Amino acid sequence: MIEVVGVTKRYGDRVAVDDATFTVRPGLVTGFLGPNGAGKSTTMRMILGLDAPTAGEVRVNGKRYADHAAPLREVGALLEAKAVHTGRSAYNHLLALALTHGIPRRRVDEVIDLVGLREVARKRVGGFSLGMGQRLGVAAALLGDPHTLVLDEPVNGLDPEGVRWIRQLLRALVADGRTVFLSSHLMSEMELTADHLVIIGKGRVIADTSMADFTARF
Ligand code: ADP
Ligand code: ADP
Repeated sequence: MIEVVGVTKRYGDRVAVDDATFTVRPGLVTGFLGPNGAGKSTTMRMILGLDAPTAGEVRVNGKRYADHAAPLREVGALLEAKAVHTGRSAYNHLLALALTHGIPRRRVDEVIDLVGLREVARKRVGGFSLGMGQRLGVAAALLGDPHTLVLDEPVNGLDPEGVRWIRQLLRALVADGRTVFLSSHLMSEMELTADHLVIIGKGRVIADTSMADFTARF
């Protein structure tokens, strides 16, 4: 469970997140919808402990990560798609991450199979397409077998098959009792992927509703 309680984030005069309060429950896929610049990434960074709120509090399963990044074993993250610039293979990239975080080596093989990168596991990450890079990012997020996943625009760059794959994966993760929170700027994407919706605009939470209620009303 993720609890965002009265959270404000200011950068100088700019208010990126304005007194946001919502809860992300386990067992459901919760979507975070809003246009570019609405405050989605900033909120996710605070959930991950990568940035501290100016005011308010974020708790993940009751814990606060305000001054340190959430451990990979507790919270898995996929941040905005950016190419991983490394000469390493996908396998070695994930292995290095696993070793740094005290995660057993066999888990690297598990996540490679889980995200469908087995055939390219020995290839250099530098040569990956955006879609393969997204799969690698999801593999990194799953490496620590975390109870909570925070995914910023996870379907970006994925082809239709990749989009279906990630939906099935998220479904399986929440069926397992995990908490999944993902952002998108596309309502059409949320309708297909999320059970619950938090809508943010100009830093303010403007709706917090089940997808069924939302689609019945609009
Ligand atoms: P979204 O993810 O919804 O596109 P962001 O959280 O990235 O939105 O941004 C929300 C607002 O905060 C924007 O106006 C953005 O310019 C601003 N912002 C985000 N990060 C910073 C930063 N490090 N310094 C200054 N302004 C920032
Ligand atoms: P550093 O030593 O660079 O401060 P860490 O050892 O915590 O960072 O993490 C090493 C790598 O793991 C980085 O590339 C970082 O992006 C990634 N990472 C850290 N925490 C997470 C997480 N919760 N989910 C996914 N990747 C993470």
